[in-house]
Amino acid sequence: MIKIRPYYDHPAHKKIIDRYLYLAALVLPFPPEAVIGDEKLTVDGIEITAETVLEEHLQRCRKYLGKKSEKYQEALAAYSITGTPGDEQELLAQEQLLAAKVIQAASQDLYGYLYETGNTGVSPAKVPPMNKEHVRRLLTVPMNALDADLKRIGQITGEHKRPIQSKTINGSINGKIYKRQRSDELLDFVFRYESFSQRAQAFRLLKDMDVNVCPYCNRIYTVTLTKNGHKSRPQFDHYMSKSKYPYFAVSLLNLIPCCGLCNQAKSDKEDQILYPYFEEMGTDVLFRTKAENGLTYLTGCPSAQDEFSISLEAKEGTAQELREKVKNSDEVFHLTELYNEHKDYVLYLYRKRYMFSDEYLQMICDTFPEMAGRFDELKGLLYLMDLEKEQWGRRPLAKLTHDIDLQITEERNNP
Ligand SMILES: [Zn+2]
Repeated sequence: MIKIRPYYDHPAHKKIIDRYLYLAALVLPFPPEAVIGDEKLTVDGIEITAETVLEEHLQRCRKYLGKKSEKYQEALAAYSITGTPGDEQELLAQEQLLAAKVIQAASQDLYGYLYETGNTGVSPAKVPPMNKEHVRRLLTVPMNALDADLKRIGQITGEHKRPIQSKTINGSINGKIYKRQRSDELLDFVFRYESFSQRAQAFRLLKDMDVNVCPYCNRIYTVTLTKNGHKSRPQFDHYMSKSKYPYFAVSLLNLIPCCGLCNQAKSDKEDQILYPYFEEMGTDVLFRTKAENGLTYLTGCPSAQDEFSISLEAKEGTAQELREKVKNSDEVFHLTELYNEHKDYVLYLYRKRYMFSDEYLQMICDTFPEMAGRFDELKGLLYLMDLEKEQWGRRPLAKLTHDIDLQITEERNNP
């Protein structure tokens, strides 16, 4: 419900996109030049090119030569990829071929989108060249602006169909028949989110993104800390769920840094919720207190908590689409219920504003013009909170504080 900045609109834009492309090129079983192209990336002061990433891939393959998991061996068998790689070059080529075959089997549209190939109906014998423009687009497209091609890939047309076909593939390894290597499940081999998410570069990416409070609930700090053996970071929610849209599993704008509670609450739900890179409740949908018996709780009596509730209300004229998404977000993340657990905090706000009247605040402004020149700034100081919308992502409960302050001001002006 709080907006976060998409990478291209972020003060650390170059840092984020360079690190992301490097990480994606390291993780995806595609030729690195398909992800990086001819660009020179700068990551932690080091120049990264497709060639340097290729060398890292080969190093990794050298390590895993002859040590690939059983599941991987089964996948190779299911896709009739035979032969044991003798060196790291061959192992890498095998991984890239498996990726192409799995994608082709899962969705011919996706295959035709990512690879330069005329006949999407035929399983490839060797890795076809990739369409760099489309690979980049898949990785960086905003989820609310999928072009016609991308929509076709997943049939993402609001019909809520399973977008990738489930196919059972038969194969054999050492005479044993393997079934149920479903191509949609095997897409995990291609869009390797687990590997992406656990790398040190993913922690650094989150640090660069600087999302310090969960955008879904605005209740929980999500700072990234990696120093002195301490590891703390936000989780990544997949705005388009990983199980239904595996090909967006590592796409930058599908990854929403958020708190564990919200990530778990959302899970694979398909409800149309607010998309934090572009949508927010803003000042159209507000937290409001509703008192049972007038505003008696202004006095701050502890039992006053029982006399009011907190609800989300859309202003008149709010677009229907926004209302729907807010309603869904509220249900998915249990926002109303959770915020009603913060009534003691709301009472503090009322008590503070009861004691610190507008006149009193103005007097402080006049007395300390250097320290609290503006009225809003002083109110922020009073609440220990930035009240401007652009700053809500900096502190938990910032939107709640803003909205309740607004309500108190309105109630004072129209008693
Ligand atoms: Zn949250």
